[in-house]
Amino acid sequence: MSRRLSLSSELDRKIRSDAKNRCGYCLSPQNLVMARLEIEHIIPVSKGGSNDESNLWLACPLCNGHKASKVKAFDPQTKQIFPLFNPRKQVWSEHFEWSEDGIKIIGKTPIGRATVSALHLSNDPDALEVRSYWVMAGWHPPEN
Ligand SMILES: [Zn+2]
Repeated sequence: MSRRLSLSSELDRKIRSDAKNRCGYCLSPQNLVMARLEIEHIIPVSKGGSNDESNLWLACPLCNGHKASKVKAFDPQTKQIFPLFNPRKQVWSEHFEWSEDGIKIIGKTPIGRATVSALHLSNDPDALEVRSYWVMAGWHPPEN
């Protein structure tokens, strides 16, 4: 969970721009989310993460809330603990894909599956309902 960060407006803008103005985990774009996307600590401060730009990224309030202070999670397939996906260092499409109906996020790797599980990327009922409307409108899933 990100504590309120006092970032310079320049750094805030840079992180939002580097993150393509979308959540690093569920890829929800700012222009489809009512709430302001949050600057989050990839490694939480409580787990030794810094306030450096290299540890900051963008997340929607849902993902950030589920992520809380987690840094790793259980992969139900290998039954082992893996680190969560790092949206700054890792490529989303290497670890996740969209379900055929475009509504659920499916983990392709142990890191992907652990992150899906920890952040409820395939079973948060609010997110699934909202995404189903985005699909109907032709706004989702994103191309990359
Ligand atoms: Zn999200």
